[in-house]
Amino acid sequence: MARYTGPVCKLCRREGQKLFLKGQKCYTEKCPIERRAYPPGQHGPAQARRRKQSDYAVQLREKQKVKRIYGLPEKQFRSLFEYANHIPGVTGDNLLVALESRLDNIIFRMGFAQSRNQARQIVRHRHVEVNGRTVDVPSFRMSAGDEISIRTKSKNILPIEVSLEARTRPTLPEWLALDEKARVGRVVRVPMRSDISFPIQEQLIVELYSK
Ligand code: SF4
Repeated sequence: MARYTGPVCKLCRREGQKLFLKGQKCYTEKCPIERRAYPPGQHGPAQARRRKQSDYAVQLREKQKVKRIYGLPEKQFRSLFEYANHIPGVTGDNLLVALESRLDNIIFRMGFAQSRNQARQIVRHRHVEVNGRTVDVPSFRMSAGDEISIRTKSKNILPIEVSLEARTRPTLPEWLALDEKARVGRVVRVPMRSDISFPIQEQLIVELYSK
């Protein structure tokens, strides 16, 4: 399925919670979920009134939520899950760590982009170097010690300037280091499950895909 390009606030409303898909703007603009706290569409209010959800529905919603936070289509998310399932460790933790280690997520975490969508675009437009080489693959998996820099000709492009200026939240995670002026960052260590503070029940995703 193609990547979703519609209004992102609808996705938050569908999941019934703020997913902060617009990045900084979510903190400064009015959030539609506060005015309409029910899923979008004609039957949205009725769905919100329905209390009991099946186990499958709960698992599905959790998976959709995480997919939407990181902006991945189903196929890519599923293959990341397969990878997480085949490496040593707890599958759910592996999955979240793999999502956090993506280049587009790190560009967003460092504040070079206001959202993961924008980060993806910055990477695709070849504005980013990893360890001195241009990388235009948003899913590129970063490792401890890797250095990310904005290419010399792109250091002052508007989206990056605006994003860094507006950067108040989220704050830089402990596992990343950033020299904002030089537009250079580093992965200090591999992220851990405990570094991800957003409420995610990854076990539900594991259960869903293990059926
Ligand atoms: Fe979600 Fe942000 Fe839109 Fe609120 S403003 S619904 S948090 S994307």
